[in-house]
Amino acid sequence: MSERKVRVRFAPSPTGPLHIGGVRTALFNYLFAKQHGGDFVFRIEDTDSHRFVPGAEEYIIEAFRWLGIKFDEGVSFGGHHGPYRQSERREIYKEYVSRLLDEGKAYYAFDTPEELEAKRGEVQNFQYDARTRMQMRNSLTLQPAEWESLIADGQQYTVRFKVEPGQEIVVDDLIRGEVHVKSDILDDKVLYKSADELPTYHLANIVDDHLMEITHVIRGEEWLPSAPLHVLLYRAFGWEDTMPRFAHLPLLLKPEGKGKLSKRDGDRLGFPVFPLEWHDPKSGEVSSGYRESGYFPEAVVNFLALLGWNPGTEQELFSLDELVGAFDITKCSKSGAKFDYQKGIWFNHEYILRKTDDEIAGLFAPIVANNGIDESMERITAVVHLMKDRVSFVRELWPLCSFFFIAPTEYDEKTVRKRWKEYSARQMAELMAVLEGIGDFSIEGQEPVVLKWVEDKGYKLGDVMNAFRLALVGEGKGPGMFDISAFLGKQETLRRLRKAIEVLK
Ligand code: GLU
Repeated sequence: MSERKVRVRFAPSPTGPLHIGGVRTALFNYLFAKQHGGDFVFRIEDTDSHRFVPGAEEYIIEAFRWLGIKFDEGVSFGGHHGPYRQSERREIYKEYVSRLLDEGKAYYAFDTPEELEAKRGEVQNFQYDARTRMQMRNSLTLQPAEWESLIADGQQYTVRFKVEPGQEIVVDDLIRGEVHVKSDILDDKVLYKSADELPTYHLANIVDDHLMEITHVIRGEEWLPSAPLHVLLYRAFGWEDTMPRFAHLPLLLKPEGKGKLSKRDGDRLGFPVFPLEWHDPKSGEVSSGYRESGYFPEAVVNFLALLGWNPGTEQELFSLDELVGAFDITKCSKSGAKFDYQKGIWFNHEYILRKTDDEIAGLFAPIVANNGIDESMERITAVVHLMKDRVSFVRELWPLCSFFFIAPTEYDEKTVRKRWKEYSARQMAELMAVLEGIGDFSIEGQEPVVLKWVEDKGYKLGDVMNAFRLALVGEGKGPGMFDISAFLGKQETLRRLRKAIEVLK
């Protein structure tokens, strides 16, 4: 058994956009597969036709393509264990359902929804199990001739798993250790519905994990309650020897307060809970995505990797490949991980700093062009160089940098009141004359000349620089003054000074 090649799967149901928690689950599966030289399988669990949402499958594939998380086989990737869409595997499941029926490990149930409802009203905490199944309408209580004719007549039925009480179930979990459960608490879960000729999640999930030779089931904590039933199903089929090991990942919790992260938290606090923007085909509602919000895929991956896992060192920045090396599923926490979205923003900032000026300029250039500015790549890159350490997103650059490209047309009132003194116009006029005389308008060319003039005149350097900044920028922000004037060049610098003197007097 230890010889088996590691194979893990990500098995979403296409019921809508992939939640960010699902992305983390897939990431941890990917890291585990890659570090063990294993395979990562993409399976679509679409046996619940009522919840099927068109476009969801394509959305999920696109999300992982964007994030750089690659599958080795599965829907849209091919492979030797297909088909990988459960709706295309009906015949396979029927065979396994029959097997359980033939061996007396499952039975037909004919109870209508109304009958079940009535029973729930009658018996408190009703559960379809060893204690109650003999009061119900099923192939255990009806005569064979009777239930066989019901089926022959086309009566709808379900197939239920016959859970024998008194069994000890052990879920072997890489994160939680051995989880012990008594079979008595489990109900006779529905494994198959004749109405849509499809198995339920439980049966299809187990059969596929077995047939696809899955060795480790890594999934969200919300699936832990299903695990004991899954263990029993493996036993019922006689597949104990190849039963996957489990790892149930900690829940993602709200950024503040208790409970699990929801879309509403994102809406309320202004962060996406989906990898990509999602357009709901029914309601038309648009939900924001990490990609469209300007996050780098590497930043999202890095951020998610540290939700519920940490390397045990101070290191926070990891590339995907570094994560493959460092990740350890057994070191995941058992308790929920707070979804600190601010940390996600911090990661994006760190990745901006790590990207070259050219890369960021490539992303910033279209924004500059969209604002009607025709600038060379070289000059855009120069601005990026001066400003990128001040932003967490490329889109934040324009409001901070527009003054490099567009001369101020008005001057921030508060700054004017504070920084433009009665003598500022006179000082700026003098400064114009000083600048006029400078041949080399680089930072190194300007700075000593201007500083000397300030000193000779006995002016306060702060006063001069504040007014100079107000004239060139229109307000009190921006990088070093000579960075700005050198970028603008002599003509533009003088033009902006002249205008400020004119307007502010
Ligand atoms: N289809 C389930 C889901 O949507 C898969 C759960 C599992 O990994 O077993 O998450």
